[in-house]
Amino acid sequence: MYRHEAVTPIARHVPIYRVLGRISRYGPRERGYNGVMPGNIASHGSIGWYVHLPFCSTKCGYCDFYSLPTIGELVEPLIAALREEMRLRDPGRSVRAIFIGGGTPTVMPADALRVLLADIRGRTGTVGEWTVEANPSSSDELKLALLRESGVNRVSFGAQSFHADELAVLDRIHDPSHISTSVKLARAAGFENVNLDLIYAIPGQSLARWRDSLRRAIDLAPDHLSCYALMYESNTAMTRLREQGRVTPCDEELEADMFEMTIEELSRAGFEHYEISNFARPGRRCAANMIYWENREYLGIGPSAVSYLDGVRSRNVADVRKYVEIMRTDPASAVIESERLDSMARRGETAVQMLRLIDGIDVALFCELTGVDPCELFADQIARLSSMGLLTADERCIRLTSHGLLVANRVMQEFLPDSSTIPGAAAATPTPAASAGTSPGTIRLTIHDRQAPAL
Ligand code: SF4
Repeated sequence: MYRHEAVTPIARHVPIYRVLGRISRYGPRERGYNGVMPGNIASHGSIGWYVHLPFCSTKCGYCDFYSLPTIGELVEPLIAALREEMRLRDPGRSVRAIFIGGGTPTVMPADALRVLLADIRGRTGTVGEWTVEANPSSSDELKLALLRESGVNRVSFGAQSFHADELAVLDRIHDPSHISTSVKLARAAGFENVNLDLIYAIPGQSLARWRDSLRRAIDLAPDHLSCYALMYESNTAMTRLREQGRVTPCDEELEADMFEMTIEELSRAGFEHYEISNFARPGRRCAANMIYWENREYLGIGPSAVSYLDGVRSRNVADVRKYVEIMRTDPASAVIESERLDSMARRGETAVQMLRLIDGIDVALFCELTGVDPCELFADQIARLSSMGLLTADERCIRLTSHGLLVANRVMQEFLPDSSTIPGAAAATPTPAASAGTSPGTIRLTIHDRQAPAL
């Protein structure tokens, strides 16, 4: 089932989520071991919570997450529906991290947000990391204070760029000054954990301007930075402009240079490069995203949200009106897709997810989650890729080398079962939330195939 020999070449810059189906912050994938049947999911231990609030001020041209301009009359019914779903689906398990995305949660009216946050806190108790995504243009003092008072302890701003013309290309509604103002307001409100999302490979962006955005972000002293290359997702305004020749994508070599420069700049500034696109101050890795990258379980609440619990991955209807109505009348039908991956597919996905981490596949954790030793399961791949200088492996971990990082998508492909054997890989795509393809907390990958070897 695994590819031990020939590998179908995949195109340059095909991110791994296109191989697996998109992986987003709220939408991790299979994992698990129930202690009885190797390869089955653990239905014990702590989980993550993801809550999707789909409203935004406007729609950004590159965004294919389920988000739409705020519909005033649906705010209260949406909050009621979310609370009902939480009441029905809360598995009563301890929660290691909460992530509220969208959409732009901070565009919600304060009263609505307060009610929702209180309900979440009442169910989960105090949680080590509770993140809310925010747009710099909708993060005022009162809203940030409300978040902090409600128990939220991490805020993630969709900064994206420190250049007004680049923000305009992205259809972002904030200007660069809003970013520093928002970070200062967040610190004043008591947030000790602040993330900034940045986008590179924006049409027209130079290496020097990307470096400038990085340095201006560093100057704001965030605790975490997520840096994603702009992706051209289907059915987005940006992709239509590209197809019409009205937008010229960034040159691939330049994009690879930007990726390498990101690592250099942020490492020099004291950030730990811990996942392909993510950087953290010591002790500030994103716990919510680590759940996905370690292929653990999570509950997704809200329209389009994806869950992975008890071995079953499911996705909610991506339509806020339908979601509200369904939660009133027939809550069970809010889940429009549900699947259970077979053990081989699950092991491949777990390997790929963990390979995104700079620490790579934790051998002991992989054994715990899947019931098999990855060193034995992937012995052929490890031998071949190690001989090519793309991978290193010992009894503790299997990880990409710095050269392997640049060709990560091709290396990861080696660990997957034939994609045709992954049931519903595309359909299982976790619906994005917040600022995307590149946005707050998004887990999209930037993978560069520069000097890609023939695998
Ligand atoms: S990128 Fe973020 S802010 Fe923009 S439309 Fe998408 S979810 Fe909303």
